[in-house]
Amino acid sequence: MARIAALIVAAGSGSRLGSARPKQYLPLAGISVIRRAIEAFEGHALFLQTVIGPGQDAEYEAATEGLYLLPPVTGGATRAESVRAGLESLAAHDPDFVLIHDAARPLVSHELIARVIAALESGARASVPMLAAADTLRRQTAEGWETIPRENMFRAQTPQGFDFDAILKAHREFADAQATDDMAIAECAGLEIIVVAGEESNIKITTQDDMAHAARLLGGASETRTGFGFDAHRFGNGDHVFLCGVRIAHERGLEGHSDADAGLHALTDALLACISAGDIGQHFPPTDERWKGAASSLFLEHAAALVREAGGAILNCDVTLICEAPKISQHRDAMRARIAEILKLDISRISVKATTTEGMGFTGRREGIAAQALATIERPRT
Ligand code: MG
Repeated sequence: MARIAALIVAAGSGSRLGSARPKQYLPLAGISVIRRAIEAFEGHALFLQTVIGPGQDAEYEAATEGLYLLPPVTGGATRAESVRAGLESLAAHDPDFVLIHDAARPLVSHELIARVIAALESGARASVPMLAAADTLRRQTAEGWETIPRENMFRAQTPQGFDFDAILKAHREFADAQATDDMAIAECAGLEIIVVAGEESNIKITTQDDMAHAARLLGGASETRTGFGFDAHRFGNGDHVFLCGVRIAHERGLEGHSDADAGLHALTDALLACISAGDIGQHFPPTDERWKGAASSLFLEHAAALVREAGGAILNCDVTLICEAPKISQHRDAMRARIAEILKLDISRISVKATTTEGMGFTGRREGIAAQALATIERPRT
């Protein structure tokens, strides 16, 4: 098992972002940029070493609270100096490989990290994720603009992975090379670079625009909410029940002010819970004559409308019916179809399940039917 170290370089002051705070400490969808970058390497690297700028200790401590990290190293005047400081510190732990990563790339995926490691494990001494240039490249010169043919043009990302001893030696030997990344230092030392696929989402945060882009990629503009509902109705006289909007012939009916559809009532409460909008009894008081014998689809439609008014989109619903009888299985797909119709959703987003309680409790004694429901919605972050 190779001993892998990750070196997260966070020494920059982030002056291009127009913020007083270095960009790596700014929150991105609630979690700081640097913490996201570090957490990406958990499970990949045995040692996590960071390099931070002078005077950043307090912000760094706050941003990395609870993470298992080597003590941070203070960086130098250039990126190369900062990386070298981190490498010198890691040398005491004698890693086989090191993954050098910019803290300003918080969205690096596990798949990308795994590709960089896999190349090293199969013998590469330097492994770098790259993307082909898709945009037209233009160079500004004293005479005006010129187009650079984009064929064979690539953008290098991080993490860049290296044989540890080789890159440390290269950094020591070529400290004055004015390199902007570690691949360039490795090339000075004659290390062959193995290219692995980079990712468009692995953006480097430089400007405010990049922060907004990263937040969008993280779904930072929206949030997912889950709501739960429960309902029960007692059996009474009758020859049918309504469950999840489907009329089922049965030797007994269900008692209730409305049609006593416990499944739809539980689901209505689950949707209301997603937007913290109280419960079904508040919206449709049993004392209100308007709801006497009402089809419970009205309640569910109303809850769905409230969710939409709050900017929400229903992602999925799951109802569990609890009874000994009637048997639900042959009605399950009709129930799913009816709920999908009421909520105007694809049926694949609707689940209906059923269980007995093995003869135990009020449902087991066939005194009534209970239902539980979960709903998940996505809505703008508030
Ligand atoms: Mg009810």
